[in-house]
Amino acid sequence: MTIQPDRIGRLRAAIVGGGIGGLSAANALRRRGVDAMVYEQAKVIGEVGAGVFIYPNSLRQLDRMGFGAALAAVGAKVGRGSEYCRMDGSVVGPILTTDSSGWNGLYGMHRADLLDVLARALPPRAICTDHRCIGFEQDSTAARLRFANGASAEADVVIAADGIQSVLQPHVVAPQPPEYSGVRAYRGLIAREKLPRWRKEAHQVWMGDGKHFMVFPVRNGSLLNYVGFVPTTTETAESWSAPGDRDELAASFQGWDPRVTGLLEKVETCFWWSLYDRRPLPSWTSGRLALLGDAAHAMLPHLGQGANQAIEDGVALAVLLEGRDAADVPAILTRYERLRRVRTDVVQAEARQNGLRYDSKYASLEQRDREIVNAREFRKGLYDYDVEEAAIAARDDGERLPA
Ligand SMILES: Cc1cc2nc3c(=O)[nH]c(=O)nc-3n(C[C@H](O)[C@H](O)[C@H](O)COP(=O)(O)OP(=O)(O)OC[C@H]3O[C@@H](n4cnc5c(N)ncnc54)[C@H](O)[C@@H]3O)c2cc1C
Repeated sequence: MTIQPDRIGRLRAAIVGGGIGGLSAANALRRRGVDAMVYEQAKVIGEVGAGVFIYPNSLRQLDRMGFGAALAAVGAKVGRGSEYCRMDGSVVGPILTTDSSGWNGLYGMHRADLLDVLARALPPRAICTDHRCIGFEQDSTAARLRFANGASAEADVVIAADGIQSVLQPHVVAPQPPEYSGVRAYRGLIAREKLPRWRKEAHQVWMGDGKHFMVFPVRNGSLLNYVGFVPTTTETAESWSAPGDRDELAASFQGWDPRVTGLLEKVETCFWWSLYDRRPLPSWTSGRLALLGDAAHAMLPHLGQGANQAIEDGVALAVLLEGRDAADVPAILTRYERLRRVRTDVVQAEARQNGLRYDSKYASLEQRDREIVNAREFRKGLYDYDVEEAAIAARDDGERLPA
């Protein structure tokens, strides 16, 4: 069976992957009149029980798409009391939690809540679950996808939002395995009522020797999301996430600030992730196929920007594709790549560097502390960036210049 998209506009887009990147791209595209369909391998849209930050740079975009109220209802506002500390709890400096206008703030979200908000805004038939993509081909007129369940789909543009282990990425570049960072992230959620004196809005980061720990609220502050980053030499080949050992986690942070050890005493279960990223890929697009999110620019989580950059990618694509014809697609995708990678190359590199700061991999801790405080300027630029404005400027420039 070949799936036909809704005819809401001239262009048909097929998005492979129904994670944060794929679902936000579908919303952005449909809002601009592109018939976007999402094909997700899982039987239901969902995510592990863990938190994710939505920073001002993507909150601004989600707000314009009409998600402001829904995010405020299920997210947790992060602000007062947010600070960087050394492992003993002494304060290094405040954490920036708004853009320069002070209007766009920061939400801690439960991942499942964010996906639910994004999925509910799409017509049910625009999301095809249980569709694992196993084949891609294209010619000068269209692109075609094949799925493990026997279905196929045709589109003018295919967006690979299928994550760091993308099956579509090899159709764009020679296979480039992700790089292992040597770090494992233990994470989980804990009811805030178990820690009644915890600061309600605070994002806190504790930086120690080769490790760091962070906490932020999610789901209206009823849950706290914690993540402990611990070095390990054990890499897992098959599964990159698994149930974690809470005793191992607690032992890794023994002797730290009592707020950290006190929280860890209350942990009952946790999961762990091996952390991988990639160096910038030589290319993100091939003809009618474009990579988006982790498939394009997998990054370490030390700036909390992987999902935020994926959301920006979707907005950029939507602006550039709006009102265009199928014949324009390859040139437009090249423009998308040119616009986006200037930003994501920097964010990928800075995420690595920030991991070194958080893990105190500095000869001088004073130098590290200075950089943590000065990184406020970098973060201002990161949060103030308006991808919609940038894409509109790139589109208008492109209309004046040959693609
Ligand atoms: C510990 C940790 C903390 C993090 N914290 C943050 C944070 O605070 N803020 C932030 O912005 N980012 C954070 N990130 C990064 C963020 O999780 C990722 O960058 C983001 O989820 C990438 O979204 P994506 O949609 O590109 O890919 P994914 O979330 O990986 O989604 C890919 C989707 O594609 C589907 N899929 C895969 N293959 C196929 C196929 N063949 N056919 C059909 N479907 C397929 C998958 O099932 C999945 O649903 C963190 C990451 C980690 C590990």
